[in-house]
Amino acid sequence: MCGITGVFAPGRDAARLAFFALYALQHRGQESAGIAAADGGTIRSHKEMGLLGAIFDEDILSELSGHIAIGHTRYSTTGSSIVVNAQPLLERTELGDFAFAHNGNLTNTDDLRDTLAPTTVLQATSDSEVMAKLLVESKGSMVDRIKSVLAKARGAYSIVLCTQNELYAFRDPWGVRPLCLGKLGENGYVVASESCALGTVGAQYLREIERGEIIRVSADGLESFQTETQETPSALCMFEYIYFARPDSSFNERSVYMARYEMGRRLAKEHPVEADVVMAVPDSAVAGGIGYAAESGLPYIEGLIKNRYIGRTFISPDQRMRSRGVHLKFNPVVENLRDQRVIVVDDSIVRGTTTPRIVALLREAGAREVHLRITSPPIKHPCYLGVDMATYDELIAANYSVEEIRRKTGADSLGYLSLDGLIASVGRRREDMCLGCLIGEYPNVPAAREVQSTPA
Ligand code: 5GP
Ligand code: MG
Repeated sequence: MCGITGVFAPGRDAARLAFFALYALQHRGQESAGIAAADGGTIRSHKEMGLLGAIFDEDILSELSGHIAIGHTRYSTTGSSIVVNAQPLLERTELGDFAFAHNGNLTNTDDLRDTLAPTTVLQATSDSEVMAKLLVESKGSMVDRIKSVLAKARGAYSIVLCTQNELYAFRDPWGVRPLCLGKLGENGYVVASESCALGTVGAQYLREIERGEIIRVSADGLESFQTETQETPSALCMFEYIYFARPDSSFNERSVYMARYEMGRRLAKEHPVEADVVMAVPDSAVAGGIGYAAESGLPYIEGLIKNRYIGRTFISPDQRMRSRGVHLKFNPVVENLRDQRVIVVDDSIVRGTTTPRIVALLREAGAREVHLRITSPPIKHPCYLGVDMATYDELIAANYSVEEIRRKTGADSLGYLSLDGLIASVGRRREDMCLGCLIGEYPNVPAAREVQSTPA
């Protein structure tokens, strides 16, 4: 999972705009970040491990001059958390140089790698580099090259790319990972993984980039090239709505906040329980918790306060600190919990390691009953399309019944939102979503267990 942005802003400092857009996308990846900028001639780039704010300063940003920029913030899923896998990637073709950044995960990387010239040297271990090399080794204009990649590559890929004087963006033919387009001033454009980043840099939301669509922005303005996608169903990732995206983003005009609020309301209808208060596990479940409270008529309280600076900890806690576990992230508001029958709304249970600790924390703080309510159905299948979701062995709902999960979490009751309830909350047609992690059917993946995995 990653966040990407692309900026075309004549007369402006595009790297700085990309920096602020990426800042709004930091939740999509905290492992490494990078920005490449083009000034019509040279492409310059800077990338490092770590959080955006720790990587970039005035000196570095002012080196990245030019009116075109792309940026990437990365969350890797396997042991390839090293700087050569950080993006943007820089490549050279007979057309000139380009910088490239990818959100998603390819599912036929090995097959694609086999089509590369035998002399091709791969430095990174990611699927993204294979795609970048495919562009290098294709023929024709950049649009022709992207078209040939769109015809071959399977899986999830939202891409931003800049040459010395153009910005490109494109999305896989299924539209698994989001990518939207905004207008910046008179003749500028911004693309970003989520619409929240457009607001941050003062761009106006125009629309989603369509699946299979290629966008090119140059001195001639914005052009769009649509490739054939009629045969493939569209498949926006449902987990973007459940957990991943920021609540102040929208996909296709459907606000993530309102979708989550509605999930909470429907959850309250599907799984009511006698209780005194409703709370959510911050931050991702807050809108769902407020929706649950509104529907149930019970007061919404804050039961846990999350340390908002925790992010990804690069210093691993020593053994004594580790045993403090969730306390590093959450402290209970004892005054709100003592002797209360508490409904706790969370967005998902994935591995089932955090959830029992949260239940225990609430009980220690004096909660008399703890009723767990989850705004998604059980996550029973892995994701091959860019969410770090673990394997069948690790997914608690792939291995245990709801009652067994209840017992393992230590909750007094447990209710999951139904699939129909979830789909209705999001307000899109079932056939337009990827529900892979919930039902085990994937839009463009041959068979779940045969997938070649090289996560980005
Ligand atoms: P679990 O019980 O599976 O250990 O943890 C469930 C919690 O993990 C939920 O609060 C949910 O918001 C959060 N969560 C779900 N997906 C992800 C993810 O991809 N990354 C992280 N860091 N947390 C996640
Ligand atoms: Mg959470």
